[in-house]
Amino acid sequence: MKASNYPLFTQKNDPSDAEIASHKLMLKAGLVRQQSSGQYSFLPIGYRVLKKIENIIREEMNAIGSAEILMPSVQPSELWEESGRWETYGLELLRLKDRHQRDYCLGPTFEEVITDLVRKDLNSYKQLPLNMYQISSKFRDEIRPRFGIMRAREFIMKDAYSFHLNQECLDEWYEKYKQAYNNIFDRLKLEYTMVDADSGNIGGSKSNEFHVIADTGEDDLLIDQNGIGVNCEIAKTKYNSDDIEEIIKDNNLIQKKGIEVGHIFKLGDKYSKSMNLYIDNAELNKCNIQMGCYGIGVSRIIAAAIEQNHDDNGIIWPASISPFRIVIIEIEGHKNESVRLFSTELYKKLNAKDIDVILDDRNAKLGNKLNDWELIGVPNIVIIGKSEAENTTVTFKKRGQTDKSSLSIEDLIKIIQD
Ligand code: ATP
Ligand code: MG
Repeated sequence: MKASNYPLFTQKNDPSDAEIASHKLMLKAGLVRQQSSGQYSFLPIGYRVLKKIENIIREEMNAIGSAEILMPSVQPSELWEESGRWETYGLELLRLKDRHQRDYCLGPTFEEVITDLVRKDLNSYKQLPLNMYQISSKFRDEIRPRFGIMRAREFIMKDAYSFHLNQECLDEWYEKYKQAYNNIFDRLKLEYTMVDADSGNIGGSKSNEFHVIADTGEDDLLIDQNGIGVNCEIAKTKYNSDDIEEIIKDNNLIQKKGIEVGHIFKLGDKYSKSMNLYIDNAELNKCNIQMGCYGIGVSRIIAAAIEQNHDDNGIIWPASISPFRIVIIEIEGHKNESVRLFSTELYKKLNAKDIDVILDDRNAKLGNKLNDWELIGVPNIVIIGKSEAENTTVTFKKRGQTDKSSLSIEDLIKIIQD
């Protein structure tokens, strides 16, 4: 990618309507733009980050044997009437009618649709367990969209669903998803914790949430000395007391703020029962299918990652999800042929090694270019001027650090590949 030919939308001034760092930086660095309340377009830089997060999630879902699918976002009311949620889901469900006056909703979650999908095709217990996931837009008519894509009305979620002949199989797969979630958040290099949680609108017997720790988080978490936590919402039930202060003191808990980035549920037979999903087992006994569902707020992770990783100059991406691994900044390449040649040569070398690189060949001042890339948060910055071109070395700087070093191209490639 060359910056002269790439839509960068960085802004000089702080947006006035952003309350928290991630929202401000996502606008300023040109990751997203608001369309209307709670709805955002992803610009090229933001979309690259989104895709990198999606791919990590994809790899970990595929690794446990969950298969990717895609379901329609407009869902018929009949399915929601069967589960009972057409009545109970409330105002977050955006309802609409087609030209025949039939009722639909914009999918906020997909338990009904996938249960219907499976019941039409499941004809033997031997097909079980079934594990499928999708990464798609969800719509929830949030009463108070805020903090940019953190609490949006339209957002990207990964939702996985599992179907089992019995509880033991569900328990086994629940643990597999839990481990996959740990792998995902480890690879995203985020400080996170898993807690026991309330199952809310989705339902079921047991659920766990994954939270990125941040002062701006909307959830209160209580974590014990062994690192095991609960969402404050269920602490009163778990500890059998109405006084949170007392619960904290008596149980030696630490209180932290969290951003909910994932939520997994043992649904049991909530949907399979109401929607008639049964199968005969080997002994020809009719069995109710046991289900699990497993969500990740893919777009919310971008905001959560920025909350944890930024400074006064901008975002500092973990390498695994940075829009680019490295930027090459030319000093006046448009006026200086040797600079243009040397930086283009390096750009080609990195491309050939599959290193995600952008060459800033814009006709702009070094200071402005540096400000842009520090704001966008690319972890490796290389500067090439006349002396670098002459010595065939580069000036190298890590985002977030002040010291610069002079490196040969070979050493630079080694550093980036580590
Ligand atoms: P919250 O408590 O934040 O409203 P939720 O418990 O209603 O979330 P789930 O139904 O568990 O959300 O959805 C799975 C994941 O989708 C959440 O863990 C979260 O990361 C993400 N998510 C939910 N609502 C939103 C939203 N309005 N904007 C962005 N991401 C969201
Ligand atoms: Mg939740």
